[in-house]
Parts: sequence; C-alpha cells; structure tokens
Amino acid sequence: MSAYDDKPWLALYEPGTPHSITPEFDNVVDMFAATAAARPDADAIRYFDGRITARELAELSDAFAAGLLDRGFRRGDRVAIYAQNVPQFVIAQLATWKAGGIAVSVNPMNRGRELELILRDSGATVLVCLENLYRDVAADVVPRTDVHTVVTTSELEHQTRCDPRLFAGVERIEFADTVDLATLIDEFRGTRPPTVSLAPDAVALLTYTSGTTGPPKGAMNTHRNVVFNAQTFRDWIHIDHDDVLLGAAPLFHITGLIAHVALSLLTGSPLVLMYRFDPEVTIETIRDERVTFAGGSITVFIALMNAPNAEKSALASLERVYSGGAPIPPSTVRAFQDVFGHYIHNIYGLTETTSPSHAVPPGADAPVDPTSGALSVGVPVFDTVVRVVGDDGRELPPGEVGELVTSGPEVVPGYWNKPDETAKALPGGALHTGDVGYMDTDGWFYLVDRKKDQINAGGYKVWPREVEDVLYEHDAVREAAVVGVPDAYRGETVKAFVSLRPGRSADPDELIGFCKERMAAYKYPRQVEIRDELPKTVTGKLLRRELRE
Ligand code: AMP
Repeated sequence: MSAYDDKPWLALYEPGTPHSITPEFDNVVDMFAATAAARPDADAIRYFDGRITARELAELSDAFAAGLLDRGFRRGDRVAIYAQNVPQFVIAQLATWKAGGIAVSVNPMNRGRELELILRDSGATVLVCLENLYRDVAADVVPRTDVHTVVTTSELEHQTRCDPRLFAGVERIEFADTVDLATLIDEFRGTRPPTVSLAPDAVALLTYTSGTTGPPKGAMNTHRNVVFNAQTFRDWIHIDHDDVLLGAAPLFHITGLIAHVALSLLTGSPLVLMYRFDPEVTIETIRDERVTFAGGSITVFIALMNAPNAEKSALASLERVYSGGAPIPPSTVRAFQDVFGHYIHNIYGLTETTSPSHAVPPGADAPVDPTSGALSVGVPVFDTVVRVVGDDGRELPPGEVGELVTSGPEVVPGYWNKPDETAKALPGGALHTGDVGYMDTDGWFYLVDRKKDQINAGGYKVWPREVEDVLYEHDAVREAAVVGVPDAYRGETVKAFVSLRPGRSADPDELIGFCKERMAAYKYPRQVEIRDELPKTVTGKLLRRELRE
C-alpha cells in the first residue's frame, strides 16, 4: 500500500463534491459545439468594446477552417499562432481543430531565433500572426521553414476603441505574400468544414517549453487533457455561464490556454481579452465588465495592487482569484486581501499537466510550511495521484522531501517527436516534475526546491542553457553560467556569470544588450558579472548551483 492511498486531502473537499470527474466530450470541437448550441447569443469573447457571440465564434472558425482546407491543409497538420491576447487567437485555434489540425502556440515575445526553432520542430505549415510580428520577426524566418501559408491579422480588429495606452502607433500593414485573416473568412463565410472526428487522444496543442539541453520541446496536450482540465477548473472553482473570465495570462501559455480559452469554451462564460497585460487597463476592465474569476501569475496581482487606480471598489465583482505558475509569497496574499478584500488561492501545475495538478479548494486558506515559509500549492485535483519520491526512486512518506511525480488524465503522453525526452520525463506515463516538495499529514503539498535549473521569472520559465548558448555566440565570451537570483517583483530574475577569452574585452552592458537583441524580453540577463574563472567540477562542468549560492 502506498502512503498516499488513503488520500487524506479528500477531507478538504466540500461535502457532496465528487472526487472524480468524467470527461464529457471527446474533443474541444464537440465541447464548444454544445456550448454554442445551448447559448448562441451569449458573448464568447469580449475585447475592449468588441463582442463576439458564441454563434459568431462558431461561424468565424468554420469559415477559417474551410479556408485552411481549401489551401491544402490536412488532418494532423500544424498551425502556429503567434499573437498577443486577441480574439483571432481563439478563432484560429478552433479553426485548426475543426480542420483536424494541431494548434501550436508561440510566445509573442519570441524573437526570430526562438520562433524558427518552434516552427521547425513542429513542422507547422500555416502561421497565423499579428501584422507587426510578421513585419518585425516572422517574415525573415518563414522562408527557412515548412510554412506555406501565412495568415496575418491585426490587434486593431474586433474593436473600435483602440485605447492609446495599448495601441498608440499601431497601424494596419499590408503584405504581398500573406493572406489577410478577415479577407479569408469573408471568402468562406457560410461554408462549414466537413465534420472531423477527433479522438480523445488526438493532439490538440503543442505547447513549447524550452529544454534543459537542445531545442524546445512541444508538450502534446491531447483533446482529453484539455477537456479534462477545463472541467477541472469548472468543477473545482465552480464556474458557470454567469461568470465573466479575466484573460490576464498570456494565451500562448498553458494557463491561458486552459484557464481562459478552454474554460470559456466549455462553460460559455465570456472571456475578456485585453491584448496585453496593463495593470491600469486591467483594473478598469474588471470594473466595467464585472469580472468574477481572475487567474494569473502572482506578478499580475502584485501589479494590480501597485496600479494608480488600485481601489477596492473596482474589484468588487471578483468572486474567485487563483494564481499559479510561480511561487506565491504568503505576505503577498495578505497584502492583496488588505487592498482588495480577496483571497488569492494557490494553483499549481506544469505545461505537461495541461495546467493544474494541484489547487487550493475554494474558500480554504492554504497553510504555510513553517520551515521554508512556502505557501501550500494545494491538494491534487480530481483523479490525480501525486507521489513524492526520493533519489532512489522510492516513494517517501508524508513529511519527507522528494520529487513530485504526477499521474492523472491531465498528464500529456509526451513531447512531439522526442521519444528520448518523453521516456526520461514520463516513464510509464507518470510525470517527473523536477519540482521538489512534500505532502503533510493532512494532504497539503508544498514546493520547497527544484531539481531542475530552470529560472522562474514571474511565471515565465528560463532555462540557463538557452541564455548561455546566446552568450557563447559573443566572440569575447569564453565561459558562461546563468542562474536565477532573487527579485522583489518577479520572484527570480536572470543573472549571468561570464569569463572572457584572453586578450578580449566586453563589459556587462554590452553583453546584456547582445542577449536582449536575440531573445524574448523575459530571458535576457538583467545582471552580468565578469569573473576570471568560473567554478567547475573536475570534469569541467560549470557549477551553476555554487554560483547561485
Ligand atoms: P510551466 O510549464 O511554464 O507551467 O511551468 C511549470 C513550473 O512552474 C512548475 O514545474 C513549477 O516549478 C512552477 N510553478 C507552477 N505553479 C506554481 C505554484 N503555484 N507555485 C510555485 N511554483 C509553481
């Protein structure tokens, strides 16, 4: 018998709440079809003063899917979506699934090198992209990939307000070699693509996480994974069509994909999109749209507290607040409660668990680990078994610290075209999370360390290796080791230790600028320290941990 078999955390649920849920749909297309049939005139998406009803969302995505099929798109093909939080993101995802394809989400902060890696690894043949991202980044990259169709669109569409705080200087751009999304939709309006039957284990999303070594890995979130965790959010947090969902997390990240898009497609609650996160605009939006559910990384809630218009009354409509993706300081939970009167519930998971594997039950206050000061990440969600294992792979009893190994219907079957990485991270289908923690005797889980070298900058994950690779492209750099260092706002930020080649010179600012040009803004080192030598093992491996300490 396992130490976890009696699942003491079950006692934490409200009486009558099922501990097990059954996926209600085979795939996301059927899931949304049921929602659109039940309430066709309800808002599916709100984008500033723009509104898209469920019926319109169904029609727009039908037309886009028909347009894709007309251009030779086949079942299983990949569509990369490279955009901020705009309605077209959701339209493109639904269209991809309706055409039988897989949606690949790309962080809009990514630069050319990062975009190219993802396009090449996924083998995407279609790229849906904001016009300015095409002009500034993708146009150069696309010729080196399998992409044969680029569909461009603009953040100025689906709204008329165009708030200058977010859209100053943004203009429409026409390209000779791309297809305009609205034009394509107009051409196929009224056409429905043939019905596709997508099995629950068909891949819905490739969600990229950068690897410890080598190129990024595409976690294969299946339709079952997505439907299951959309239901987890709905049933755990009690969301229904009367709720209004704040879309503050980026849609390319698993949090946005599940807690925003999939949850809204399942429940029919409007998803409020805001292009990109701006604290002042977000507070106004929560107030004006009477948002009831907010989920996002803790930096979102810290920024809201510090916004010039942070007033308790503005957030009065909020009923439930959940934060995941990065550690939450208990003092921040208290401060947010003082300012806005709302308790932030912790929620934890990975891209590979299709968002949550653990969450704090609504209404419960998460305990704090007295030794590390870590706020509990909650208890495992429905049908999820989490074991804590030691270095020898043996399961540890409650209270002992080891790696969290997670199994459940939300765990991905693996990484796209990466059998070795899959076998390593998911032996026997159980995810070795790389997160180190323990379960207390009441069943609450705490994260106290990480096995992986990953840096967590406010929910944005940075793998040291990727930053080091870029530093090595600089001709003065002899050795580079990148670590996470504490940061008041982001929790952690990126620091590089560098030694230089004999006779070469470079100063920290130059190296910071060099990285900044070549990678997404959250990844480049905020600090560079130049040393004569970097600490190494006898075999010459750089000792990142020693530098961090
Ligand atoms: P991602 O794949 O970007 O979702 O990153 C997953 C990682 O984020 C996990 O392995 C954890 O290290 C970290 N993480 C996610 N949620 C939490 C949380 N609530 N508290 C602390 N760390 C978290």
